[in-house]
Amino acid sequence: MLVEQLPLSFHEIAKQTSEDAVLKIVCEQVKSGWVGHKNYKNESEPYFRRRSELSIEKGCLIIGNRVVVPNILRQQVLNILHKNHPGVVRSKMLARSYVWWPNIDSCIEKYIKCCSQCQLNQNDKSKNDKIFVPWPKSEKPWQRIHIDFLDVNKIKLLILVDSGSKWIECWALNSTTAAMVIRVLSRCFCTFGSPEILVCDNGPPFGSKELKTYCINNSIKLLHSPPYNPESNGLAERGVQTIKKILIKSLCNEREVTRMQTKIDDALLSYRNTPSADTGCCPAEIMLNFKPKTQLTVLKPKIGGNIILEHSMGKSENFEINENVLVKNPQAKGQNWLPGKIMKVLSGCRYLVMMNGSVKMVHINKLKPSMLSERIHQSN
Ligand SMILES: [Zn+2]
Repeated sequence: MLVEQLPLSFHEIAKQTSEDAVLKIVCEQVKSGWVGHKNYKNESEPYFRRRSELSIEKGCLIIGNRVVVPNILRQQVLNILHKNHPGVVRSKMLARSYVWWPNIDSCIEKYIKCCSQCQLNQNDKSKNDKIFVPWPKSEKPWQRIHIDFLDVNKIKLLILVDSGSKWIECWALNSTTAAMVIRVLSRCFCTFGSPEILVCDNGPPFGSKELKTYCINNSIKLLHSPPYNPESNGLAERGVQTIKKILIKSLCNEREVTRMQTKIDDALLSYRNTPSADTGCCPAEIMLNFKPKTQLTVLKPKIGGNIILEHSMGKSENFEINENVLVKNPQAKGQNWLPGKIMKVLSGCRYLVMMNGSVKMVHINKLKPSMLSERIHQSN
């Protein structure tokens, strides 16, 4: 193809929505409040069932906080969602923040089952699960940093994972001397500051005197896990394993350092903007405190403040009683979001939320849907 395809945006979604046979009808129904809708089975049924969450924004159909993708664009959106080969769980989480259509989850599963790179690089589950012993959770970002090497097509990659935010850095290196590692780490630490703890194995160059001195000079506690011991893999931070899998899939056809770094950067952008299963938030949101623009953020039209539901018979709130949510932490220190549960809907924008064993009134702009497991909310 000579002309590169333009990135998909909400303008195209709006245009195709107006031409989609089903969505055209659904939009009319949303505007009229589903007047005269009978429970007949047809293609608008999945939308009728979730009618209280539907609204229209700049010509796009919105469901909750997700844009409904017309049939003709769904394959293209699946390509974007799976661009850097996230697994099924991460792909679904990504979709949950941006896009929806009936049975989207099974479409994602099917798509990944047919992805050759994912199938070829699938890991041996039984082997990995046995030796996996995770590190304790970090209380705040940039407290404990893990670094490790990954070999891809004879090129050495230095990987850095922050265990608190799951923020990841990765560099394709020409050499793996202590001086090179220190140079790369200093460049990173000039942005985020020195971490409290740096974890790596004891192999060269991590066991070197230079790295030890660098850490002492920068008040970093250096911790070593034993090298070249299969059991020690189990001690690795899970984020390191996750990004290794993603990078191997994205880079397996690349053999040149500069081009490899371009692909790494692309993979990092999507990784940092995909909610992590551990925190429920995107690493970028935690580290940067704003949402970077990506191919997925441009799929949704900007919604002015709260979503205004345009139908006449639905409720006006976005969250329901007993729904698990994340609440913006009022304290500057500590994690950005705290798990909570909606106890009562006070109005369209005010809720009573159970957090840390007490009930607080929270405004809707301090709430977001939670993707954390039920277990985390129960321990709350
Ligand atoms: Zn894949």
